[in-house]
Amino acid sequence: LYNFCAGPAALPVPVLAQAQADLLNWQNKGLSVMEMSHRSPEFVGIAKKAEQDLRDLMVIPDNYSVLFMQGGASSQFTMIPMNLLRGKKTADYINTGQWSKKAIAEAKRFCTVNVAASTEGNHFTSAPSQEELNLNPEAAYVHYTPNETIGGVQFDYIPETNGVPLVADYSSAILSEEIDVSRFAMIYAGAQKNIGPAGLCIVIIRDDLLGDVVEGTPTMFDYKVMADNDSMYNTPPSYGWYLAGLVFAWLKEQGGVKAIAEVNQRKAKKLYSFIDTNPFYANPVAINNRSSMNVPFTLVNSDLDKAFLAASEKAGLLNLAGHRSVGGMRASIYNAVEEKAVDALIAFMDEFAKENG
Ligand code: PLP
Repeated sequence: LYNFCAGPAALPVPVLAQAQADLLNWQNKGLSVMEMSHRSPEFVGIAKKAEQDLRDLMVIPDNYSVLFMQGGASSQFTMIPMNLLRGKKTADYINTGQWSKKAIAEAKRFCTVNVAASTEGNHFTSAPSQEELNLNPEAAYVHYTPNETIGGVQFDYIPETNGVPLVADYSSAILSEEIDVSRFAMIYAGAQKNIGPAGLCIVIIRDDLLGDVVEGTPTMFDYKVMADNDSMYNTPPSYGWYLAGLVFAWLKEQGGVKAIAEVNQRKAKKLYSFIDTNPFYANPVAINNRSSMNVPFTLVNSDLDKAFLAASEKAGLLNLAGHRSVGGMRASIYNAVEEKAVDALIAFMDEFAKENG
C-alpha cells in the first residue's frame, strides 16, 4: 500500500519499524519512551540528538534556536504576531492560498496586515514574483508560505525583504530541499508531513528576535521562554519529539537533504510530465510554481472522480482525494513516499485513463 495523504502523512517504514521495536522497552531500560520523564537523562539525550540532527540536516546557524512546540502550525499563526511585532503596528503577508489566508486572519487580531501580493485572483494557481511584492519597509516582518499544501503552489525563490525579518511556514516542504536558513528570521513547520506525528511543531528562530512579546502573551506562547527552557518549560510532546528524531536519523542515512531533494525532484518531474502529456488529466498551476511535495490534478471528466478514488484505493494507492475545499485529486509525495510509489501511481493513472477515456 502507498499512502499519498497530505497530512498526517506517510512515515518512512524503517522509522515505524524502529518505533515498534522500541515501543515497550526502549534500549532495555524496561519502559517506553512515552513513559519516560522528560527530565531523565535518557529523554534529554533523545531530545538533544534530535535537535542536533535537525541542525546538521538544515545547516542551522548557531545564532538560531530550535524549538519543539505543541499546537501544530496553526498555533504559530497566532504566536508569530505576538512575538514578532516588537512594538510595530503592521506586518506584510503574501497570500498564495488557504494556509496564508488563515495566517493572515490570525495576524489581523494583533496588527494591520498589508497583503503584499495575492494570487487569489487566479484561484491560487501561481506565486507572485519578487517584482510583484508590494513590501512595506516599516513592516515588523514579512510572512509567506513557501509551499501551499492545498493548491500545490511553491515559490521558486526566497523573497528579498531588505532587512525586514522574513517568516516562512515551511510545514509541507521542510527538509524536502536545501535552503539557506540564514535568509530567514523564522521558519516553522507542523510535523505531520516531513517530520513526524501531528501536534508537534518545529520553530527555528534567530535569537535576536526572542523576547519583547505583545503585552498579555501567555507564557507558553513566548518563544524566549521556550528557548530558555530548551522547549521544556512544561512537559513537551515527548513521543512526537522522539519520532521526529528517528525521522531525522533516517534522513541522514539517506544522504541528507541534498540526496532526498534529488529523489523528490525526480518523483515530481515524472508525475507532472505524465499529467501534462495525458489529456485525461490536468494540473492548473504555473509551471515554475508547481510543488514538488503536493501534486493536485483533475480528471477531464469530474463525474469519474468517485470511480477514480474507489479504483485507486483498491489498487493500494491511498488518500488521493484533493482537499475538501478544492476537490479533484492530490498526490502528496513527501520524503517518505518512495519513487516506486510514484511509479505505481502513474501506471494506475495510465490504466484508468485507457479504460475510461
Ligand atoms: N500550514 C501549512 C502550509 C499546512 O499545510 C498546514 C496543514 O497541515 C498547516 C499550516 C496547519 O498545520 P496544523 O494542522 O499542524 O495546525
